[in-house]
Amino acid sequence: AKDSGRNTYEFFTAEMQQMAMARLGLERDLRFAIERQEFILHFQPQMSLATNQVVGLEVLVRWESGTRGLVSPAEFIGLAEENGQILALGDWVLKRACQQYVEWFNEGIAPGYIAVNVSGRQFRSAKFTSRLREILTETKMPARGLEIELTESFLMEDQEAVMRTLNELREMGVTLSVDDFGTGYSSLSYLKRFPISTLKIDKSFVQDVPGDDEDVAIVSAIIRMAHALKLDVVAEGVETAEQQQFLHKQGCQIVQGFLFSRPLNADECGKFLRKRLEE
Ligand code: C2E
Ligand code: CA
Ligand code: CA
Ligand code: CA
Repeated sequence: AKDSGRNTYEFFTAEMQQMAMARLGLERDLRFAIERQEFILHFQPQMSLATNQVVGLEVLVRWESGTRGLVSPAEFIGLAEENGQILALGDWVLKRACQQYVEWFNEGIAPGYIAVNVSGRQFRSAKFTSRLREILTETKMPARGLEIELTESFLMEDQEAVMRTLNELREMGVTLSVDDFGTGYSSLSYLKRFPISTLKIDKSFVQDVPGDDEDVAIVSAIIRMAHALKLDVVAEGVETAEQQQFLHKQGCQIVQGFLFSRPLNADECGKFLRKRLEE
């Protein structure tokens, strides 16, 4: 028993060591990737159910790694947040997204807005709003064409400072959206204090409507509450016509998901926008 105990322990540390090595490797590769700008942006349309038009595009980053292939943000955003690399990466994403929007704008095919995910660490960094102002000026991006997606968990930390930044962004004309709504912090009181314009219903709730009674209750409650608070509501992860019909019936105006389009690279997205305008 003593022996097997020790073996388990040794096995466990070997595994932990392997994980630590993998993490270090990822961290090093990510640092080079940021220096060499090995990232690309994908864009996923947000559709109006009333007009069937593209109203906005969510910007989703991907890492085009020479050795690892196309890496999903799920695999590196968490680490980049922990070690601070998200600051350089997030800056690049914002600037590149604005450049692309302005390009489409000049071609006459830009939708109303692009929605960019901003992580807590990036949002809280002292330079965030001044840097954003710089990016808007440099790229000639109209502030009203920029929406920022924030998750609710970090909105709750240091609320005074968060509120100041939110108000500053709002004064600049940028709109604010709460991502993954309902999955984070449980208090709703911030909704009436923060200058937010949109709630995004998380795909984990959308996935099982209309079959699952609990998710039906949650999704319809979020939609009704958003409307009562005069907020827009976007449902993400819409994959089936049944989900779309349900959301439409509940009064959700904006939808996003594989049913309408996967996230597209800039070329594909330009084509998609042009085609929708011709229809
Ligand atoms: P998110 O903000 O919740 O983004 C939605 C995710 O759902 C995206 O995954 C998107 O590709 C995926 N998705 C879209 N439609 C469907 C659908 O119909 N069904 C299903 N099952 N999934 C769908 P992705 O691109 O892998 O991004 C994962 C997460 O990484 C994002 O979740 C976001 O939290 C984060 N992320 C992505 N880009 C950035 C970025 O530039 N900055 C930061 N801070 N985070 C980012
Ligand atoms: Ca998002
Ligand atoms: Ca989400
Ligand atoms: Ca998210």
